[in-house]
Formats: sequence, C-alpha cells, structure tokens
Amino acid sequence: MATNHLQFLETPRQDPKKVEVPVRIHEFAEIYGQFDKETAAQQAGRCISCGNPYCEWKCPVHNYIPNWLKLVNEGNLFEAAELSHATNTLPEICGRICPQDRLCEGACTMNDGLGAISIGSVEKYITDEAVKQGWRPDVSDVVWTDRKVAVIGAGPAGLGAADILVRNGVQAVVFDKYPRIGGLLTFGIPPFKLEKSVVETRREIMEGMGVEFRLGVEIGRDVTMADLMAEYDAVFLGMGTYTYMKGGFPGEDLDGVHEALPFLVANINRVLGLEKNPRDYIDMKGERVVVLGGGDTAMDCNRTSIRQGAKKVVCAYRRDEDNMPGSAREFQNAREEGVEFMFNRQPVEIIGDTHVEGIKVVTTKLGAPDERGRRRPEPVPGTEEVIEADRVIIAFGFRPNPQEWFDSQAIEIDDGGRVIAPEQGRFKYQTTNPRIFAGGDMVRGSDLVVTAVFEGREAAKGILDYLEV
Ligand code: FAD
Ligand code: SF4
Repeated sequence: MATNHLQFLETPRQDPKKVEVPVRIHEFAEIYGQFDKETAAQQAGRCISCGNPYCEWKCPVHNYIPNWLKLVNEGNLFEAAELSHATNTLPEICGRICPQDRLCEGACTMNDGLGAISIGSVEKYITDEAVKQGWRPDVSDVVWTDRKVAVIGAGPAGLGAADILVRNGVQAVVFDKYPRIGGLLTFGIPPFKLEKSVVETRREIMEGMGVEFRLGVEIGRDVTMADLMAEYDAVFLGMGTYTYMKGGFPGEDLDGVHEALPFLVANINRVLGLEKNPRDYIDMKGERVVVLGGGDTAMDCNRTSIRQGAKKVVCAYRRDEDNMPGSAREFQNAREEGVEFMFNRQPVEIIGDTHVEGIKVVTTKLGAPDERGRRRPEPVPGTEEVIEADRVIIAFGFRPNPQEWFDSQAIEIDDGGRVIAPEQGRFKYQTTNPRIFAGGDMVRGSDLVVTAVFEGREAAKGILDYLEV
C-alpha cells in the first residue's frame, strides 16, 4: 500500500470489534476481534512518524512502534513480526493486555484530539497473523555455547529471560511449579482478556527457538536450589509476588469472604478443564457480590463474577475514577458488563454472624499525595453505610513471598520483601549472590506483564555479560 501522509485525517481511530455485551457476559472468551489486513494497514498508516516517538519512550520495552506500523502499512507482515520481536518477547500478549491508555497510546501525539494510533491492536495483529501464516522468529544464526542457565518461573519475566538467552546461544531451562507456562498470564488473568491458547502458541514458538520447559517442578520442593546451582552456570529468578494483602478490618475471616487469586484461578481451572477438586470452585451464581479494590485484579474479579451469573456485582474503591490504578479500557468494559461502581468508599468492617451479610464502608475525600504521588483517601466522619452482600472478594494486590532458601543462597531482600537486584550495577539485575539474577514482580513488586518482560530480558543481558558470552 502506498504511504498516505494524510491518513490520520481521513481515517478515524478504530479498535477491533468487541463482542456485544449480552453475548460476552456468558462467555469466557476474548471480547476483542482482530483487524483484517486492510484495516490493520489503514490504522497503522495513521501514524505520522512524529520526529520524537513518545510512544516508544513510554513503552516499557521501547518497541520500535513507528517502524513496525510503517511495515504493516506497507504490507510487510513478516518483517514487522521480526522487528516487533527484537524488543518484546510477548508482543501478541502485551498488545492484548497492556494498559495502553497509560503507556504507548497515552503518549501518542495523535492522542491530542484525533485519537491515538491503535498500537496495541496492531501489535497483536502482527504476531497473531504472522504466526498463522507460518512465520517464526529467525534464530538461524544462533551459535550455541556450552553455557546453561536455569530460569525459575515461566511467567513473563522468565520467558523474557529465556528468549534473550537462547538467542545468544545459551541453553535456557525454564522450571515452573504449574503444569502450563505463563505464570499469571495463565493462572490469574481471565480468558476474556487473554485466551490461554495464545500462551500455548507462545510455548510452541519458544520451544521451537530452543527453550526447554520443565513444568510441574517446584524449586525448593522437587528440586533443590543447591542442585540447580551445581548444574547451571547461572540462575534467573522470575517467581512473581503471591502474598495476598489483607484489609486489616474485622470480618475478613467470615464465610463468603474470598481472596481474589484463588477465586480467579479456580474459575480458570474449571474453564481449562484442569480442576482437581470441584470444591475449590467459588460459585457466584445468584449471589450479591462486592469486590473491594480498583486495579486490574478487581476488574477481573468483577467480570468473572458477572460471567458466573452473579445477581449483582458492586465494586467499592477508596479513591475516585481518575485515580484508579488499572487500565481505563478494562474499567469501561466492566461498567458495560453491568458492574456497579462505588467510588470514594473505604471498607471498615465486613458484617455477618458466620457468613457475610454486608460490608460497612465510609465515604472518603482525597487528601495530599502519598510517596507514589497518588492522593491519599481520608475517611469523612459520620458517613458509614452498609452494602448488602452474600460474597466479598478482596482484591488489594499482592506482596512478595520470599522463599526460605534465600538465606542459604545469600539472596538479600529489601524491607518490603522484594529481591534486591538493581537495574544499574556491574551486571544488570544481579542479586547479592553473583550467580543469581532476578526480575519481574519479585523485584519491583506487583506490576505489569510488559515490565516483567523487560526486566527478564535485561537480566538475561546481565547474565550474558557475567558469563562473558
Ligand atoms: P508471574 O507471572 O507471577 O510468574 C511467576 C511464575 O513463577 C509462576 O508461574 C509461578 O508458578 C512460578 N514459581 C514461583 N515460585 C516457584 C518455584 N519455587 N518453583 C517453580 N516455579 C515457581 N498485567 C498487565 O500488564 N495487564 C493486565 O491486564 C494484568 N492483569 C492482571 C490480573 C490479575 C488477576 C493479576 C494477579 C495480575 C495482572 N497483571 C496484569 C500483572 C501481571 O500479570 C504480572 O505483573 C506479571 O505476570 C508478572 O510476571 P512475573 O513473571 O514476574 O511473575
Ligand atoms: Fe504499547 Fe505495551 Fe505494546 Fe509497548 S508493549 S507498544 S506499551 S502495548
């Protein structure tokens, strides 16, 4: 297709078609469709290649966005796929679930009135379509060395690390305690945001590149860290953060109060046919559900409850809409699907005898910013009210879960339990044990897929320097 420099004036921003609400609230399937070739080219062609691509800087992996948009506009799909993989291990996944409004698309010059380029949807299109047409990452010039690295965790950080290692001829063996790769991509994020077949395709691609997965193996239980240290030249830790954050108010132990992740994982296991014990499943059918929290996890709990057939889903969040931490797109999707939002409400007590009957909340106003720059919610005296509920899901996020073997391996953590592995240092993301590197949520705390991918890739570069490969 010939480049049309005025495409941005002639063609409005378009997103792939969404499945209608009455249909999608009964399905655990992705709600967004795919661009066809022509629409992808048109949407990519809206990019004006502004001299200073803010989108690239705001993208945590610094994708060469204008360059691959141009390739898509010109119809060079395979080249676009190769370039997209030069900076990102999971482009089709980031394209689906990055909060683009806060990242690349939020920084797009066209966001100023004309509508940002639909960067995420084009990124997803590139890999999905190229892989369907037979493209695979070109690793034909890899010269294998005799070095081998153990990667603990097959989440985005571990996959990012393994990608860079094999591309540089270092054998990467990825261990995970779960039976499938992906970490939270598989056992956390619901299929209406990311279908699990996408992660399975990524597994095939990575195995094709030479990555070896040893799944269902927990390090520290099935294999000791000492064994890994004896067998491998270096180890990368990408084990995530899994300590559930409690609210610290009365009533959290009542029947009918649930942690977010076990609820989501039990649902995913049922959808995937991996359920071991039907009693693990938490059924919201016919229930009045209150979800506490305002981030991605809370949105996923809201929308999973809707799909399970909850009678009513209320999401109570202690700040306002503008200060929600998650993706604006997913908030909008939740609202469309019938979730009721109560902003500026802070829980003070879950009420009930043995089973939850309601939740007492107090209205808040936003005060001075905290250390992260977000305005602190302050309770307004005398504003208590009770929201009736049969189930409460607490989605306040996660803290790191340091392993008991950290001490014996001289791995130090900070006051918050995060592994100390500095981005800047002699070797990037090296822990206090020189042969062990770490990245992703266990280093930075609960964050995003794309930041975990970035840190895994950067840590692998640190390992290559350390091993002098
Ligand atoms: P993880 O994905 O947690 O992977 C860690 C892996 O390590 C796991 O597979 C685990 O089994 C394995 N492991 C741990 N210990 C061991 C051991 N001892 N032996 C073997 N294996 C071990 N981010 C977004 O960008 N967009 C979203 O829409 C989004 N939605 C989210 C929704 C939910 C419900 C949650 C919980 C998170 C969401 N996130 C989202 C955040 C994102 O999923 C994480 O930031 C990202 O997955 C972190 O990657 P990671 O590789 O550091 O850790
Ligand atoms: Fe945007 Fe995320 Fe893709 Fe970067 S990885 S271009 S932030 S969707």
